[in-house]
Amino acid sequence: MKKRILVTGGAGFIGSYLCEKLIQQNHSVICCDNFYTGNRDNLEKILNNKNFELIRHDITFPIYLEVDEIYNFACPASPVHYQNDPVQTVKTCVHGAINMLGLAKRTKSKILQASTSEIYGDPEVHPQRENYRGAVSIDGPRACYDEGKRCAETIFWDYRRQHNVNVKVIRIFNTFGPRMQKNDGRVVSNFIVQALTNKNITVYGDGSQTRSFCYVDDLVEGIFLMMKKENFSGPINLGNPSETTILELAKEIIELTGSRSKIIYNDLPIDDPKQRCPDIKLAEEKLGWSPKFDRIKGLKKTINYFDLLLKKEK
Ligand code: UDP
Repeated sequence: MKKRILVTGGAGFIGSYLCEKLIQQNHSVICCDNFYTGNRDNLEKILNNKNFELIRHDITFPIYLEVDEIYNFACPASPVHYQNDPVQTVKTCVHGAINMLGLAKRTKSKILQASTSEIYGDPEVHPQRENYRGAVSIDGPRACYDEGKRCAETIFWDYRRQHNVNVKVIRIFNTFGPRMQKNDGRVVSNFIVQALTNKNITVYGDGSQTRSFCYVDDLVEGIFLMMKKENFSGPINLGNPSETTILELAKEIIELTGSRSKIIYNDLPIDDPKQRCPDIKLAEEKLGWSPKFDRIKGLKKTINYFDLLLKKEK
């Protein structure tokens, strides 16, 4: 059945894949983005599609639309971007969630929240399961995003309890792939661009901190399965449990690109989580989902993307 679907942050890295896939499934898609980190180029394949509508709108302000489903993906997600305007980050998380939940309540639509592994903070429990309550700094530089996203989850559960809104919450772990921004400051994009231009690879700290990287196609599949799943709201972790140190990642990228780059060590940012790895048993059990791309396969695709992008810019 054809639905009218709203994707907030639809011009962003993950949102644009959602818009594209929903259009392919013949739905009618409204993409809402304020272009703070989103980019029209991400939508080039669907911009002229008759089922696609793009609205420049900041979700910290209410919007009145008629929709059947909402994917709430609006929010800068890279530490560099979300720390650039922390007050706006909190507003996007919290006011944005309230506005979208209000819309869901009025239109009786199903709403899926893009939450994050950041809600676990610098975790003392490893790997992280959904029932872990997290160790988040209340006042550090990451708090605007971590606490903003935590509060958003809280409001989602309250709208469910109080107003019976059909909510879904996914917690997204580090994700990478084509359409990441070249200068978003994240580790995968930084290292690939540095490697392709033979510049120094900037490892923060000693590189022993770990992350678990999920290729974007896998994540998007998990998101759709979650939206479809009946009688299950989550929260649910979506990520690739294959964990690596940041130093290992740097070495892998140097090898895959054949780069002459050297590794240098810079200061570790404040509150940088020391380890992160999703426990995805719940996703396996409830959605039958697990990632298909290993990191190297995903990195190769992402390296190709950035290689073409850098050549185009020359
Ligand atoms: N990092 C790094 N060099 C960079 C960018 C990031 O060593 O040029 C590290 C960062 O300190 C963190 C990890 O890579 O430990 C992942 O950083 P990212 O910003 O991609 O995401 P996070 O998981 O911290 O939100």
